Amino acid sequence: SIYGDYIKSVIRTVPDWPQPGVNFRDITPLLQNSAAFRKLIDSFVHRYQEMRLDTIAAIDARGFIIGAPLAYELNCSFVPVRKKGKLPFKTLSETYKLEYGESAVELHADAFERGARILVVDDLVATGGTMLAAAKLIRRSGGEVVETATIIDLPELGGSQKIRDDGYDLFAVCS
Ligand code: 5GP
Repeated sequence: SIYGDYIKSVIRTVPDWPQPGVNFRDITPLLQNSAAFRKLIDSFVHRYQEMRLDTIAAIDARGFIIGAPLAYELNCSFVPVRKKGKLPFKTLSETYKLEYGESAVELHADAFERGARILVVDDLVATGGTMLAAAKLIRRSGGEVVETATIIDLPELGGSQKIRDDGYDLFAVCS
């Protein structure tokens, strides 16, 4: 993507967090840098400004950080895809497997109109489980998933391939 190498240079890798052996990709240095944060949002605006999107569906919680300014800039509605138990109204949910156990994402039943053109955003794709569950949930709810998008793809974990194998396009600012 246009600013991919630059964005990658302002993401910090924290070894052994949250557990030994994990290299956590920390986006806070990117958010703290106003020029970098602007370039990040502009990367998404540049990609999506001609795609006539209706709605940005952003995944709890770091997806919200990109999803809200993007929805504002593109004149789209903003819809939160939340972790289980956080949404107050009538919800639909999609369960997915984790390394140990399972998790679920939820969406309000009235979040968008049938046929709405939707972009799903999150900060990072690892195994792809979270993004895929969100995309499936939106499709089940009658939305058209135009694309899925992330700041960071970790392709060696196979998630981006899994998302594409399931028929969704994926845009990553950097890998
Ligand atoms: P996946 O479902 O693809 O295995 O994991 C992606 C989800 O976990 C995303 O919602 C993301 O926020 C979070 N996540 C997993 N690993 C990392 C990481 O190293 N850095 C960040 N920022 N988020 C991560």
